[in-house]
Amino acid sequence: MDRSTSAATPSRWPKATRQQTRAHNTRLVLRTIYEHGPLSRADIARATHLTRTTVSDVVAGLIEQGLVDEVGFRPSSGGKPPILLNLVDNARYLIGLDLASDAFRGALVNLRGQIQHRISLPLSSRDGDRALELVREAIGQLIAQADRPLLGIGIGTPGLVDAVRGIVYQAVNLDWRDLPLRALLEQQYHLPVYVANDCHAAALAEYYFGGKRDAESLAVVKVERGLGVGIVLSGRLLSGDAFGAGEIGHLRIVDGGEPCQCGHSGCLETAVSTRALLRQAMAIAQSRPDSALHRWADSSDPISLDAVLEAFQTGDEATRQMVSQMGRYLGFGVATLVSVLGIRHVVLAGSITRFGEPLLEAVRQEARARALERVAREVRIDLSPIDSSDMVILGASALVLARRLGLFALLRM
Ligand SMILES: [Zn+2]
Repeated sequence: MDRSTSAATPSRWPKATRQQTRAHNTRLVLRTIYEHGPLSRADIARATHLTRTTVSDVVAGLIEQGLVDEVGFRPSSGGKPPILLNLVDNARYLIGLDLASDAFRGALVNLRGQIQHRISLPLSSRDGDRALELVREAIGQLIAQADRPLLGIGIGTPGLVDAVRGIVYQAVNLDWRDLPLRALLEQQYHLPVYVANDCHAAALAEYYFGGKRDAESLAVVKVERGLGVGIVLSGRLLSGDAFGAGEIGHLRIVDGGEPCQCGHSGCLETAVSTRALLRQAMAIAQSRPDSALHRWADSSDPISLDAVLEAFQTGDEATRQMVSQMGRYLGFGVATLVSVLGIRHVVLAGSITRFGEPLLEAVRQEARARALERVAREVRIDLSPIDSSDMVILGASALVLARRLGLFALLRM
């Protein structure tokens, strides 16, 4: 054995280990306060199995950083009442971005995943470098609004995304290929950047902020301009061998159907997406004089999702049939998912969920009719409790909170 190496090792290792231990203890204490606060130092020592001295030391550091504060006393039956500690929710903000809608949405988010400030920048058919420019504009606006230190930037983007390296391999709608998004933005803003596929981010949002932290497995079907699925399977966020897990939007389900942006035709998302909905609504407007949508037939403005929703809620027959048909196609997708993966809990997300219970019922019926009875009977299909416009932002925020502060155990990815 080389003696110089063996001599150098002992002096280097203990230091690294001490730092690592301290970082580990800090995360452990912070997470305990985050999940169970307000707590006393003694409570924390009991919950973490750290010594009282270590806890006091770590807490002093967290108070100095402004992340934790003393918030009062617990009533005591005798002796000195213990001081209670809690997280300072607004001690830091982060930037969350959703690049998967017609407008790039962004927000400043606090440590509890509460949105403090929102922006929305219309994409207006920008793609390539111009879309990247719009990302920079969104980040610039949010940085200018931030009156707290920023932890980092979390981004949910459509396409095939290597979340570990922060590279967008392919995003058809944005015309991005092999884009090193994380590296580009970290270089410019000197903040840590985390990138994930938008549907995978939606699954993280549902898991962490939609009350699903006890779920072993979960599929979040997100229907917006496109359709995709974020899958949590046995406590792991599935990315797939080529980062394409959950890309069921481009399965061909209609022979001779509508052409799709991917180059094929009859893809699931040509039948189930907000784009499909608006296209079909226009067809109804032009061909069904009895429909409430008919007044849009000669309008110079395109039909909006709000207008379709209004016709639906007033009981317009043609609109209701269209939404039921969409629910049936979606039910087919859900039946395929639960049959392949054996997942028992499916959550529908995205602005399509504004059609509520009637849509959900069509999805449930079709899924039941198309899957093995025993499988279908045990499957729960619900609407996400999270507002569709916040979903991707919150999922991207979860990535930042978990990676930067360890506020919760991140699903394996
Ligand atoms: Zn397609």
